[in-house]
Amino acid sequence: MKPLSETGRLVADSPTLAMGARLKKLKSEGKTVYDFTVGQPDFDTPEHIKQAAIEALKKGETGYTPAAGMPDLKKAIAAKFKKENGIDYSPDQIFVSNGAKHTLYHVFQMLAGPGDEVIIPAPYWVSYSEQVQMAGGTSVLVKAGSEQGFRVTAAQIEAAITNRTKALLVNSPSNPTGAVYTEQELRDICELAVSRGIYIVSDEIYEHFIYGGQKAVSPAAFGPAYKDAVITVNGVSKTYAMTGWRIGYAAGPVNVIRQAGFAQSNATGCPCSISQRAAQAAILGDQTCVANMVAEFDKRRIYMTERLNAMKVFSCDPPAGAFYCFPRCDALYGKRIGGVMVENSTALCEALLDKAGVGCVQGGPFGADECIRFSYATGMETIRKGMDAVEALVKGTA
Ligand code: PMP
Ligand code: GLU
Repeated sequence: MKPLSETGRLVADSPTLAMGARLKKLKSEGKTVYDFTVGQPDFDTPEHIKQAAIEALKKGETGYTPAAGMPDLKKAIAAKFKKENGIDYSPDQIFVSNGAKHTLYHVFQMLAGPGDEVIIPAPYWVSYSEQVQMAGGTSVLVKAGSEQGFRVTAAQIEAAITNRTKALLVNSPSNPTGAVYTEQELRDICELAVSRGIYIVSDEIYEHFIYGGQKAVSPAAFGPAYKDAVITVNGVSKTYAMTGWRIGYAAGPVNVIRQAGFAQSNATGCPCSISQRAAQAAILGDQTCVANMVAEFDKRRIYMTERLNAMKVFSCDPPAGAFYCFPRCDALYGKRIGGVMVENSTALCEALLDKAGVGCVQGGPFGADECIRFSYATGMETIRKGMDAVEALVKGTA
């Protein structure tokens, strides 16, 4: 047979989901494992959100909706942007999709074709570069290591801009590092893009998960020129413990949003009607559930950071946001752990899984092979036992 398309040949499985699937399989086989792989809240979706979905079902809201989302949900999203982010969006500037991942996919499809470059600060969430590649574009990775708090500088971004740069990705708080940019840092970076007509894709999915008093910042609120340049991406998965419901959204310039909606009308028709009603209830409803979850994550964050640093072979500052610890672990490279020689983050993750039953994600695909990622969006009991297991394995290697 003839070869697959370029995407068909090059696309790789999501490393986060692949590791998550391995852990799930081990669990289903009855093995005791401590799962720090996939970043999804371990909480159940709050009751009032489930009730909204049940009502939608009972009312028979089971047909297709407009391709880019129900008008009521778009109105709720517009109100959220105004209240929480200080940005005025009309419904035609909003596009609802099947999760923020799918939203980003459509956005990159609209922005980045062959010959176009997208600047991605690294470490970065694994799917950005894969999505840019699927769109035919090229990712330009700009690395910020732990020594600079995992935050790129404006000078680094400036050096990466070429006449082929189409978009700049910003993700604050960041997956995998938890880094949160200050408003001034983001302004300095985004100004470089806006002044050159470069789009900014701002992934704000972790905006509510910020600890220690820093504030979330939306570049689209920086001024009218920014509103024309920024595509703000968000969703309900993390904020409301709704990962399985698959609702994400983007707001931005009408041409980008309209075209993304057209693409969706051909690709998937529309997001799930019931999930859209649930998302509407989540966004408009009581937000106490969010504060409660964030408070719980904060405790886990401090505990996990302390445990990792106490082992000496890992080092990380307490992450300022999201729900991941991303410690450096290269002090272990070149050493034997549980009888296995560890040379890189993949080998370390394999050793942790095989010898300690601990699942985490290797830093390589996030653009930082010197690190590994532990999600603390899991119960305290798992964190305690999992950290005990890691400690027992690495003891004596410091
Ligand atoms: N952006 C980032 C940075 C993420 O970590 C994730 C992971 N879920 C997403 C987007 C996508 O989220 P979802 O598709 O569940 O809305
Ligand atoms: N974003 C989460 C993570 O990084 C969920 C998995 C995924 O979509 O990549 O673990």
